[in-house]
Amino acid sequence: MAYKMDRKLSDGAFDFVDSEKITGLLSGQGEDKVRLREIFAKSMEKNPLTLEETAALLAIRSEEGKQELFQTAKALKKAIYGNRIVLFAPLYIGNLCINDCLYCGFRKSSGGTVRKTLTQDEIVAEVKALQDEGQKRLILVFGESPVYGPDFIANCVKTVYGVHSGNGAIRRVNINAAPLDVAGYKIVKAEGIGTYQIFQETYHRETYAKYHPANTVKGDFMWRLDSLDRAFEAGIDDLGIGALIGLYDWRFEVMGLVSHALHLKEKFGVGPHTISFPRIQPAEGMNLPLPYKCSDEDFKHLVAVLRLAVPYTGMIMTARESPEIRNEVMHLGVSQIDAGTHLEIGGYSSHSEKQALEREQFQVGDTRGLDQVTGWLLGEGFIPSFCTSCYRAGRTGDRFMEFAEKGLINKFCTPNALLTLAEFLQDYASPNTKALGDALIEKELQKMPEDAWKERIKDNLRKIQTGQRDLRV
Ligand code: SAM
Ligand code: SF4
Repeated sequence: MAYKMDRKLSDGAFDFVDSEKITGLLSGQGEDKVRLREIFAKSMEKNPLTLEETAALLAIRSEEGKQELFQTAKALKKAIYGNRIVLFAPLYIGNLCINDCLYCGFRKSSGGTVRKTLTQDEIVAEVKALQDEGQKRLILVFGESPVYGPDFIANCVKTVYGVHSGNGAIRRVNINAAPLDVAGYKIVKAEGIGTYQIFQETYHRETYAKYHPANTVKGDFMWRLDSLDRAFEAGIDDLGIGALIGLYDWRFEVMGLVSHALHLKEKFGVGPHTISFPRIQPAEGMNLPLPYKCSDEDFKHLVAVLRLAVPYTGMIMTARESPEIRNEVMHLGVSQIDAGTHLEIGGYSSHSEKQALEREQFQVGDTRGLDQVTGWLLGEGFIPSFCTSCYRAGRTGDRFMEFAEKGLINKFCTPNALLTLAEFLQDYASPNTKALGDALIEKELQKMPEDAWKERIKDNLRKIQTGQRDLRV
């Protein structure tokens, strides 16, 4: 029986995006060097920024100001997250959709789109293929349809966790699906999900109305804006926000994202776990004027400002971006990327190399496989991480914030990243990637003081060599 959604908003729901204030702040600021230095200093103390401060960073126009911003973002990222980059893959479960978002290849009016929902057996085949590449973290992606109710989503999560191919295991399943009601989120949470991610698409109401027809569920701006408040009410404290960059002025969207983060922190004591900033890509049958396209230069600006504004929030840059852009932007504060991405439904087990837009939501920019991306990251001096320790140790929401604010990320996360990397190198890597990875692990060990902690890490690394898996400190 199809799930009957209760369209009740969360307790005390309100539109926390103050468009007038945002527009005023964005139009009223010039570039003030003294003020900027103060804000950079505040950021380096790992303090979240206010909307006013964020607007000041968005007002930077000079090359010199931008370079200073980029250097600060790089330094802050290093101070909080070290040089780890967490890797994951999206798994598209189904593209049935009752909505008609003008930019999306899955929209209901797209006649050319091939519709498909994976069966549970097909999910098993996809997950096996993903595990055989070395993936440990997935995000399951769904269109919006009564077919994809909470029980269906929960069942997919259960199926994914149940698959084990060789040494493979998916240790964290995140979700990107339509907003649910409180009861629905509870059903999904009970299966042990990581992050529940929902993108607002645009925080600008008039633009929202332009791209999401009013006679569709997604046409209801408040239902979506309030969606993660309801998730929190249902006990999900690991939330992902995002905006689809290119629908409206990117500076406004940054202010919208920061407003959202501040709102969650104020209401629940915990900000979002991740922020995504996908740039709009070509999609099946899409022929839209996009006057607000965000240039590569502005994209770098956007990422650096977000890094400073929400220091403890993970930042996700997806494979929508090309390898060249990823290479540049990575250093400015990104903490997670997807790799080996296939958007075609069933695309991992069919091993299809070519992109076919009629079977995909949008065009992918980085089509490199997981081994290749891992090798590239190692070459750039990053530690590719498959770690899922925090979530499995119950360090989410305010417990994660406490952990982060005590500066424990580097103490625990770097070793755990190295342990998961060692597993990957042993089980899945090409000889070239393995050589790069082994050298990096050695280099990271050399940086650590000789103490019992280091001995414990080395002992775990030896155990991985002898075939033990899923070790963490
Ligand atoms: N259907 C659910 C929803 O709309 O929230 C969840 C999944 S939707 C498949 C995931 C995200 O893809 C959307 O929130 C949107 O931001 C993004 N997206 C849609 N069309 C896109 C395009 N042409 N280029 C880049 N990203 C796109
Ligand atoms: Fe459907 Fe989501 Fe695409 Fe909108 S973005 S058409 S809701 S799949």
